Amino acid sequence: MLALLDLPFSDLIFRAQSVHRENFDPNSVQLSALLSIKTGGCPEDCGYCPQASRYHTGVENEDLLSLEQVVEAAQIAQLNGASRFCMGAAWRGPKEKDLAPVLDMVRAVKALGLETCATLGMLKPGQAEQLRSAGLDYYNHNLDTSPEFYGQVISTRTYQDRLDTLDKVRDAGISVCCGGIVGMGETRAERAGLIAQLANLHPQPESVPINNLVQVKGTPLAGTERLDPFEFVRMIAVARITMPHSAVRLSAGRQQIGEAFQALAFLAGANSIFYGDKLLTTANPEAIEDRALLEKLGIEPSEAAAQVRMMQPALLEEASRSHRDG
Ligand code: SF4
Repeated sequence: MLALLDLPFSDLIFRAQSVHRENFDPNSVQLSALLSIKTGGCPEDCGYCPQASRYHTGVENEDLLSLEQVVEAAQIAQLNGASRFCMGAAWRGPKEKDLAPVLDMVRAVKALGLETCATLGMLKPGQAEQLRSAGLDYYNHNLDTSPEFYGQVISTRTYQDRLDTLDKVRDAGISVCCGGIVGMGETRAERAGLIAQLANLHPQPESVPINNLVQVKGTPLAGTERLDPFEFVRMIAVARITMPHSAVRLSAGRQQIGEAFQALAFLAGANSIFYGDKLLTTANPEAIEDRALLEKLGIEPSEAAAQVRMMQPALLEEASRSHRDG
């Protein structure tokens, strides 16, 4: 992995683009939307995260959203072209009483015709099976970084805890979304270590989100030296080469690197993007900018999203009717 990361930039991008073309339509991306269904107040200590209750970041704690709020957000995401809807909760892991309403959300989002994804923390035995029965397609649980660097970022759960949750997800027949974060002060060798872990999962994750740290004041990682965006693109390229059949997703930190680096990341084999919460309002300048960039590059949303877009008029009518009816 390190030898790949060390390649001359043009050689690396050429290899990544060649692998990409062998396995995917190079001009298509999959769009995922993320909704925080329960924000803040998390007991864990992930050093990058503004939702950890021990850091003073100004994030307000919110209770679990209602089923109606989640369905409305999912409908708006669908109208904006998302094909997958991810529901995230800031928990160490779901308690049994937490899981029941989430199962209802999964059923309702699935019924809209969206792919469903959840990120709820560590899972106990049996919980993945319940999620699968409710219709969950993907579970997101990131390894975050290499095992060597991990202890400098998180102390409240171990690397093995994460691998164990991933095993439970796999065993229940749910597709795995698993990636990490770069720009946390790790070395290039440690970034190679993260890719090595991901690429050696059997089977490899179906989705691999690569995040570029968004520094938030009040978290321990605020003030970390920023990662050169070329290094971020190198990570995308090595993920593409070593996980040729996975969707490699540009996730957090995408906007900060600007349009030219995002275009380079697509060239390096990224074929999925995360819109984040902000997609979930109809007049969203960031979503409009994203669309404009994809159009400039001649990139189309993946087929599932295109089909959904063709359904828009009917869905719009239904969404506005349910909104009117309260
Ligand atoms: S477990 Fe999730 S929500 Fe909690 S601190 Fe870590 S990243 Fe944040």
